[in-house]
Amino acid sequence: MVPKGVLSRYGHLLNLPSHTQPVTLLEGATPLIPVPRLARELAEGMELWVKYEGLNPTGSFKDRGMTAAISEALGRGAKTVICASTGNTAASAAAYAARAGMKCIVLIPQGKVAAGKLAGALAYGAQVIQVEGSFDDALHLVMEITRKHPIALVNSLNPYRIEGQKTAAFEICDDLGSAPDWLCLPVGNAGNITAYWAGFRQYHELKHTGLPRLLGVQAAGAAPLVLGHPVDRPETVATAIRIGRPARGEEALQAAAESGGRIIAVRDEEILRMQRLLAQTEGIWVEPASAAGLAGLAAEIAAGHLRARGQRIVAVCTGHGLKDPDIIRGLPAQPIVLPPRLDSLEEVILRL
Ligand SMILES: *Cc1c(COP(=O)(O)O)cnc(C)c1O
Repeated sequence: MVPKGVLSRYGHLLNLPSHTQPVTLLEGATPLIPVPRLARELAEGMELWVKYEGLNPTGSFKDRGMTAAISEALGRGAKTVICASTGNTAASAAAYAARAGMKCIVLIPQGKVAAGKLAGALAYGAQVIQVEGSFDDALHLVMEITRKHPIALVNSLNPYRIEGQKTAAFEICDDLGSAPDWLCLPVGNAGNITAYWAGFRQYHELKHTGLPRLLGVQAAGAAPLVLGHPVDRPETVATAIRIGRPARGEEALQAAAESGGRIIAVRDEEILRMQRLLAQTEGIWVEPASAAGLAGLAAEIAAGHLRARGQRIVAVCTGHGLKDPDIIRGLPAQPIVLPPRLDSLEEVILRL
């Protein structure tokens, strides 16, 4: 099979203008990995899969929407793109802009961007600007500047981002033969949950694939959609969802309600515990935000709010663990240091 990006695979189902000029890194077609050992830890008789979006070209699902947004911007003749980002959007925008021969400017909140994401944006040659403020401040700034200057905005406010991100829902239906019963995913700026719901609805109309219930999961310290009001100082280890004023918050709430699902919050400890459990029972290492969907699922099952038996459940793991190595380096379990001697090594191994 000739490798394809999401535009050549699903472009006929996406609402993109005719001037769109494809810029692709062959994103998408990420694996839907069965995780039976983790499933057994959480509940009896449930089928669980991880949609591993960390395997996209720049390490997160953002590439699906970015191929669409950059392709449209290029076709329109844009020379420069800009975004505010908690990190992954920045890396993705920078990579696709590089491939398109465009300039890329990214605004990131000060000191709160994971090392692997910042490194990515710099490596791909973006102009990185650190704003002394939150993600929400940075997003406000890029909205203002793109109103004044001919620079293309590639945040998920850009409708083509949502179009591209719908392809993850199509892939899940194609892989399973229908929609799952539940889809669990982290919610930050709420573009992704909005896109999944649009994608599942479109596929259902077209192919009668059924509709999942959506379990959107925020971090307790950044849970505006659960609290019902904006959060001025969002705080969480899950930096990708450290957002207090989600741009598509209303749409996310509506999607969850329409699907018969909900949006909940989990504590940072639950997120980190799930990150570890997923890595150590299934060999899938994701960044903290990406474990939030599964942490939410675990919490709902434990509280008796979600009956998992007989259900087919997909958890979206949005970004790769390598994005945020410092989280792991801060854990208690660290390498043992030994002199280069056999007896020292034997002593340690026999203790394990
Ligand atoms: C962007 C991102 C999210 C949040 O997605 P939204 O569309 O902002 O809700 C979650 N996890 C990761 C790894 C991300 O990069």
